[in-house]
Amino acid sequence: MLKEGIVASPGIAIAKAFVYEKVELEVKEVKVEDPEAEVARVKEALDKSKAQILAIKDKAARDLGAEEAEIFEAHAMVLEDPEFVDSITAEIKNNSINAEAAVKTVTDRFFQIFDAMDDPYFSARAADIRDVGTRVLNNVMGVETVDISALDEDTIIIAEDLAPSDTAQMDKARVKGFATNIGSRTSHTAIMARSLEIPAVLGLGDITSCVKNGDTVIVDGLKGVAVINPDEAELADYKKQQADYQAYMKELGELKGLKAETKDGRVVELVGNIGSPADVDGVHKNGGNGVGLYRTEFLYMDSDEMPDEEKQFQAYKAVIESFKGEPVIIRTLDIGGDKKLPYLPLEEEMNPFLGFRAIRLCFREKDLFKTQLKAILRASAFGNALIMFPMISGVSEVRQAKAILAECMQELDAAGIAYDKDIKIGVMIEIPSAAVTSDIIAKEVDFFSIGTNDLCQYTLAVDRMNQEVSYLYNPLHPAILRLVKTVIEASHSHEGKFTGMCGEMAGDPLATLILLGLGLDEFSMSASSIPQVKKIIRSVSYEDAKAIADAALHLETGEEVKAMVQEKIAELGLKIV
Ligand code: PEP
Ligand code: MG
Repeated sequence: MLKEGIVASPGIAIAKAFVYEKVELEVKEVKVEDPEAEVARVKEALDKSKAQILAIKDKAARDLGAEEAEIFEAHAMVLEDPEFVDSITAEIKNNSINAEAAVKTVTDRFFQIFDAMDDPYFSARAADIRDVGTRVLNNVMGVETVDISALDEDTIIIAEDLAPSDTAQMDKARVKGFATNIGSRTSHTAIMARSLEIPAVLGLGDITSCVKNGDTVIVDGLKGVAVINPDEAELADYKKQQADYQAYMKELGELKGLKAETKDGRVVELVGNIGSPADVDGVHKNGGNGVGLYRTEFLYMDSDEMPDEEKQFQAYKAVIESFKGEPVIIRTLDIGGDKKLPYLPLEEEMNPFLGFRAIRLCFREKDLFKTQLKAILRASAFGNALIMFPMISGVSEVRQAKAILAECMQELDAAGIAYDKDIKIGVMIEIPSAAVTSDIIAKEVDFFSIGTNDLCQYTLAVDRMNQEVSYLYNPLHPAILRLVKTVIEASHSHEGKFTGMCGEMAGDPLATLILLGLGLDEFSMSASSIPQVKKIIRSVSYEDAKAIADAALHLETGEEVKAMVQEKIAELGLKIV
């Protein structure tokens, strides 16, 4: 039987299934004579839960690294949160009810409050609360959970969904793949699977009711399907595909130390997009030679208060130092649109993506902006930092941002604080007006970085978050290709200036040949895409790539462009995963 889901982590896994079912706890509310005894039961369960969480945290720190273990710090904090604990006690005492009913009521209430907030940061908090609440409930009720920390054979975990504490406890040597009923590409399970490099397919609907323990399951994380009890022919076919994929990955791995150089000697930069210092390892591991986009807003979003200059300085410095002279492009705060800060209330807007976002917000919140600029400048003394401004619509904003940067430099000079006085300044080209006037903007900056995620949404009038219109979201649309060409040419008409790209298009293997041929100088992408893009670049000559780009510019639709590129990729004997 074959079931279709969502590609969450690439690769092919074949193993016996383990259906990881969590017992649905049935909680009945009953009146009690002795509320104090119930409060004591809760206290005991909280202590036990805390000890369990700390043990999982230690295991996660050993198996997955300090960053991944941090989530359990957040879990332990839920248990210490007086709001949470006192609400349970109050529930018991005020209503004379049993401990389990009080824990469930309070967990549900907290979960709903956070879940309703419609913000990725708070949704993650909601998931933490549910995870911790279930643990406390299990402990109050004396329910033992299934142990997946020591498996005796290779296993595919089949589950409704996997909580962070489940993935952290797993026996990494034995778990070969995940297949779950729910989840998306950006859900916690998907992120964990990618960082563990375990193939995963999520959103399979009812996989838990289609599979029994011991069934053979294939998780195809390339096509996003799960095959249950394959026949001999399917199994043989998948074993071959698995071997081919592993060989291809090994081949890509061998490119790590090599340049992204075409057959006739054009070298381009392949660099990573990062959201925090923790992402740096992935860039090094995949052979990236720097950072083309450091999305600093995550530093603000992961904090309960505005990060001060020192905290920012430390984060930027850590990244810059780890690249030892390779370029690190730090983008100033891009908040607004779909990204909010809990401690910076903003007015509700009719069209947040066309509204008070990024540089527009920084101009109004000038102190906040200057704090960040000074932190970046101070960090620039420790390596090769570049500054990039987001959401630029025209040259006036560039001039305004540069004037504020100059003020910051003067203040640092007056205080005798070191920074790179020749720091390069660039802008994101993600608004069509900036692309069209890139010849004017080029005079004011050292580089451009094309943000195709927004450039596509604004040029094609397609909300990048709206599934209903996602079929129109096509970076290979002739309008986008023409804008990319315009921007690259604008920078190249000035000696020493360059154009990079940091939108998802830069890591899309179907776009590589065209971007290369259009003369793009720097490709910045999720670290895991780097090896494949490098492989494509090393397989072609710049002359041929230019001819392919030229042919693409003469086509009339994105679909035609895609078909043409697919043909060229096949002719070059390349495959795409
Ligand atoms: C972009 O718009 O392409 C981009 C890289 O920025 P973000 O995805 O952070 O908006
Ligand atoms: Mg953008």
